[in-house]
Amino acid sequence: MKRFARETPIGLKRRARKTARLLAETHPDAHCELDFSTPLELAVATILSAQTTDVRVNQVTPRLFLKYRSAADYAAADRAEMEEILRPTGFFRAKTDSLLKLGALLEEKHGGVLPDKLDELVALPGIGRKTANVVLGNAFGVPGITVDTHFRRLTNRFGWVHEDDPVKIEFLVADLIEKRDWTMLSHRVIFHGRRVCHSRKPACGACTLAAVCPSYGTGPTEAAPAAKLLKGPRARDLAVAAGVDPELVPASAALAAEEP
Ligand code: SF4
Repeated sequence: MKRFARETPIGLKRRARKTARLLAETHPDAHCELDFSTPLELAVATILSAQTTDVRVNQVTPRLFLKYRSAADYAAADRAEMEEILRPTGFFRAKTDSLLKLGALLEEKHGGVLPDKLDELVALPGIGRKTANVVLGNAFGVPGITVDTHFRRLTNRFGWVHEDDPVKIEFLVADLIEKRDWTMLSHRVIFHGRRVCHSRKPACGACTLAAVCPSYGTGPTEAAPAAKLLKGPRARDLAVAAGVDPELVPASAALAAEEP
């Protein structure tokens, strides 16, 4: 972190906001990748997303949401039937248990309606701060910071935090970034983690954040090897945005599995 070793708190805030603006330009397609049409559906999908990919969850939820439409439906569900539907997402017994209990508690304490307050959400079975912030930000329009594995890794690489604890990271980033940007920032950081700033080999030489990132050099800095590391449907656009020849991006990048 030598590059920004003498940074003042106000300098850090300015750099963090500049990084956030660059992320917005880099990932105009960032969004919540879980399919849902109601707050309850998003809460359920987020619970199911533990230890699996959003793509896998989206394969399972159409059948689930068709069968269970309300909190009462979840409360009254047949355990074996639900387990069968959830099996492809892994940990299906624990997830079924959470959904049955969630339905029952929503019925008992909230009239079957998912609450829109953080403290009430985190008191529900299967819902931690991460899930609660996803639901608040994306289903209720209340700004929320979602600290998942990508957000934790990238905010440390950005030098915004020097911290592993998700709750502490959430509060530190909340101090740096304007509240109205929290939800979209979360999506953009996660997109950057999946497509550019990978855990093992980040594509530093093809990264739009190179000038503002103290961890530049963690991955290859030459354009050719870095461009090969870009992933996802916009891999060539990402190269162009970073000033790298898009021809260096292999055609397979668009189909390459992004980091979950
Ligand atoms: S410069 Fe490298 S470490 Fe920094 S955000 Fe970009 S890919 Fe990640």
